Amino acid sequence: MGVDMFASKTRKTSTKISAHYVDNARDLPWRVAPQDSKRGVLQDPYHVWLSEIMLQQTTVGAVKPYFEKFTRRWPTVADLAAADQADILAAWAGLGYYARARNLHKCANHITDNLGGQFPPKESELRKLPGVGPYTAAAIAAIAFGARAVVVDANIERLAARLFAIDTPLPKGKAKIYDAMDALTPEHGAGDFAQACMDMGATICTAKNPKCGICPVQDDCAADKLGDVERFPVKPPKKAKPIRKARFFWVERDGNLLLTTRPAKGMLAGMRALPDDDWSASQDGNCKAPMDAEWEIEENIIQHSFTHFSLQVDLAIHSSTNPVIDISDNIWWPLDQLAEAGLPTLYKKAALWVAKRSLK
Ligand code: SF4
Repeated sequence: MGVDMFASKTRKTSTKISAHYVDNARDLPWRVAPQDSKRGVLQDPYHVWLSEIMLQQTTVGAVKPYFEKFTRRWPTVADLAAADQADILAAWAGLGYYARARNLHKCANHITDNLGGQFPPKESELRKLPGVGPYTAAAIAAIAFGARAVVVDANIERLAARLFAIDTPLPKGKAKIYDAMDALTPEHGAGDFAQACMDMGATICTAKNPKCGICPVQDDCAADKLGDVERFPVKPPKKAKPIRKARFFWVERDGNLLLTTRPAKGMLAGMRALPDDDWSASQDGNCKAPMDAEWEIEENIIQHSFTHFSLQVDLAIHSSTNPVIDISDNIWWPLDQLAEAGLPTLYKKAALWVAKRSLK
């Protein structure tokens, strides 16, 4: 296909995607409706940034209540900057990937202290913010500032790979996918176009069983013509995840549970948690208890999957009614208020295991 024909085809495809969005946009709490954005109403950069950070590795359904909770409690980036990091981490509990929450606080402070409380409008400047990668920078520039920026998230990656039948396996294929999206992205309305593509990827061009029959760009779709849409995007062969071992320690006293604060660096840094044996992403724990005592060991009570490894957890339970504690940063947390402790999901699973066991 010649350059002019390619440009004209991509323009038509792009127009169809944008037109479909006008009547089919998902109603999301951080979003300005397409009818309003056409009148020049832009989204609040704080809302775009917050939602995009939350949406990394997390579904829209899971993010909605967290977004609403955060914006109610911290309505502006300055409010978030002024918050205690422990409160932010506790409010984030359950969303996972806690480095995002720590970077959120760092970024809010940077904006408040160094940028007069304003997000910079340029994609290149946005990329310099803590925790803001190329995708998030492009999304904020396009959606909150109306810039022409090429936005590629996982949903858009799938849509573009299929539209152009890009068969270079990921991650190498990402460069071609970016070029394809660059060709499709319009000069004006790049923010709505990006959101239109996100919506199509999430609701029509889904990973499994895409709804090609109702797709507004089926006629333009190279993968559909090949009759093999689910082959795209082509993934690299899967590597088996390593399995790591950890031991958590359960100590109760007068209706309280012994918690600790995890180290300031490393996995789940700074979060409240059960005492454990120093497991980490790269090595098994050492099984060392936080104090000399009698322990009842329950093996392999939970398995938890992280991106690069799986964790198998043993639980050591100390059942004396008056335990002698010799760890310095211990916290006695009321068992009946454990839901408010902001434990990461991994430790919540252990607490749930104990609760179920005591019902038996
Ligand atoms: Fe995706 Fe099917 Fe539409 Fe192609 S036709 S873009 S595979 S939904």
